[in-house]
Amino acid sequence: MALAEITARLRAAEAAAGRAPGSVTLIAVSKVQPAGRVTAVLDQGHRVFGENYVQEAAAKWPAWRAQYPGVQLHMIGPLQTNKAKQAVDLFDAIHTLDRPSLAQKLASLQQSRGSLPQLFVQVNTGEEPQKAGVLPADLAPFLRDCRGMGLAPTGLMCIPPEDAESTPHFALLARMAADHGLANLSMGMSHDFESAVAQGATHIRVGSAIFGQRTYPQ
Ligand SMILES: *Cc1c(COP(=O)(O)O)cnc(C)c1O
Repeated sequence: MALAEITARLRAAEAAAGRAPGSVTLIAVSKVQPAGRVTAVLDQGHRVFGENYVQEAAAKWPAWRAQYPGVQLHMIGPLQTNKAKQAVDLFDAIHTLDRPSLAQKLASLQQSRGSLPQLFVQVNTGEEPQKAGVLPADLAPFLRDCRGMGLAPTGLMCIPPEDAESTPHFALLARMAADHGLANLSMGMSHDFESAVAQGATHIRVGSAIFGQRTYPQ
């Protein structure tokens, strides 16, 4: 079964990197997967999942949370400011804090509700124009602004360019996290999670290697 195989590969990658078994959190990315594939993974005891779309997560996860205690849900897709309130109520972590307007919105939600999900700042390590994320050169002032608003991001997240070797992007993200005293690194997907673990990932986001290929609605 794919979950067992990916978990075994993760344990091997942790060992190869001299890291403790279980020190890397495996986020099973269940976006657009048929319900039966997700419940199969829940039934095997896995509890940490990632979703990209607030609407989709809101439709699926409240019922599964009630049925499977201990679910931890991570928002890994771009977050529209007008969906932020729904997102903070639904998710345990948000990996895609990427702009001042969203930081402002999250800070005001923190004021009104007293807490927030764990936050990661997404960094556009490849400096791709079409991709979300703070540019590396803007990270220091962005973190300063976030902290000034009372937000306390605990980590960084990146999605390397599709056509590039991932390792230098993971290394860059790790260096930036260390520079800013951030403990968590969300990096690595189905095709490159072992390299991410070698570079210090604390959270890997694996979808198709666990659930099979995604088929998007037409
Ligand atoms: C979909 C997605 C993943 C999972 O991708 P796979 O290649 O299926 O493992 C990971 N991270 C983000 C941000 C995603 O959107």
